[in-house]
Amino acid sequence: MNASTHVIDKLDLISRSRIRALVAVARDFGQRGWTPATSGNYSVRLDDGRIAVTRSGADKRLLEPSDLLLPDKDGILADGVRPSAETPLHLQIYRQKPAVNAVLHVHSPAVTVASRLAVGQQGIRFHNYELLKALSGVETHDIEIELPIIANDQDMTRLAAAAEPFLSTASPCPAYLIEGHGIYAWGEEVDGAARHLEAIDFLLNCYLLERNPGS
Ligand SMILES: [Zn+2]
Repeated sequence: MNASTHVIDKLDLISRSRIRALVAVARDFGQRGWTPATSGNYSVRLDDGRIAVTRSGADKRLLEPSDLLLPDKDGILADGVRPSAETPLHLQIYRQKPAVNAVLHVHSPAVTVASRLAVGQQGIRFHNYELLKALSGVETHDIEIELPIIANDQDMTRLAAAAEPFLSTASPCPAYLIEGHGIYAWGEEVDGAARHLEAIDFLLNCYLLERNPGS
């Protein structure tokens, strides 16, 4: 048992159940090929306000609770172990959205290809899809939802600045795309965040099929 396992084992019931749910979702999405080559990262907000986030380089198909780290509010760890490089993007979503308790980031093929096809656009619009109702607060297919896209950047401060305008609006879209990179999706609990991600991945598959129906 390493130090992280020890810390997580001592957490309250709500936090431990969020971590268990996150590990199950990470393994499921990993099996689907959504986090190839140790990519992607996941986090949950704990009951005491801290964030548990996956460590850098973990194989998400085999994720264990001990692969989650507890950085401080600036993303720093005391023991020198590195959390995911994208931890600042998780922290930003939690800061901007107090009701959110789970953030999921994957690199699925549909997300990656759609984000490249839509380069230069502000976002991808979805309208008249029954599955839009999988998004929290959406009760009809007859609504237009825009999934924002931001340019990729290896500088997390610049990436966070590009995401800021979307996160500060009241859009019902619980996700944004990063061009040629992946998607961030969130929810009040892990199952809601996973449902959002699954629905948006499905909508992006539809978007791609409509552009290339023979594929
Ligand atoms: Zn990424």
